[in-house]
Amino acid sequence: MTETGIVVSIQGLTKSFRTGVTALENIDLEVAPREFVSLIGPSGCGKSTLLRIIGDLVTPTSGTVRVNGKTARQARVDHDYGIVFQDAVLFDWRTVAKNVSLPLELLGWDRPRRKERVAEMLDLVELTGFETSRPWQLSGGMQQRVSIARALSFDPALLLMDEPFGALDEMTRERLNLELLGIWEKAESTIVFVTHSIPEAVFLSTRVVVMSARPGRIAETIEIDLPYPRNPMTHEEPRFFELVTAVREALAAGHGGRTSRDAAPAAEER
Ligand code: ADP
Ligand code: MG
Repeated sequence: MTETGIVVSIQGLTKSFRTGVTALENIDLEVAPREFVSLIGPSGCGKSTLLRIIGDLVTPTSGTVRVNGKTARQARVDHDYGIVFQDAVLFDWRTVAKNVSLPLELLGWDRPRRKERVAEMLDLVELTGFETSRPWQLSGGMQQRVSIARALSFDPALLLMDEPFGALDEMTRERLNLELLGIWEKAESTIVFVTHSIPEAVFLSTRVVVMSARPGRIAETIEIDLPYPRNPMTHEEPRFFELVTAVREALAAGHGGRTSRDAAPAAEER
């Protein structure tokens, strides 16, 4: 198998914590450039752990992880990806502009270049005019947009997002979903996105990876063949409902007594 052009390549990944919990077992996953892959599964099935292993924040027990053809560690050193967590994790003593420019400072970009880039990024997430605001002055949705701007500021090949809109109300979430798709298309990035919302996963993704609990495994992978650009009407399409049902059934199969293999072919053939 060639790794050429593969952004994330995971083989035989297992993670057991010292507490004895096996969070992930035998995970194989490949993500190609420009894909939007969502990981979905019940709480505690290892979604965050998997994302953190890709981001080199957790070390695997066994198996291999390559990001842009490198070790996760090297990819981190090379700033090959940006991470967005559920809480915006902004620095309250820094202005919005200074939060976005933080990775650029760490990368040693000079001031004029940083300034130009920050302006570009704030424009992208529609926060122009908030440069000198402090994070606590912004709504939750705006804060999350700042953290997306920061994660994208250094133009990473890969964006890792762990339930970035999980704490937001439904309307804000839907708006940010649309914005995120716009950003993803404009920035030509690759996204690995964790969510526990089935409609969100289907709406955003090129592919949904359904995980089962205890220990976390990949139960099924569902290609989302809805055309882009997606829009609010996408939620009304019969195919959208079919795919939501397919993901829901895969989740139920992963949860209950049936093996995921029983469920996989039927949904795959739709
Ligand atoms: P999810 O994001 O899908 O809700 P997590 O990846 O956070 O799940 O957790 C998967 C499992 O691993 C859970 O049982 C959790 O308690 C356990 N776990 C996660 N992080 C740690 C840790 N640092 N130490 C021990 N157990 C952990
Ligand atoms: Mg989690």
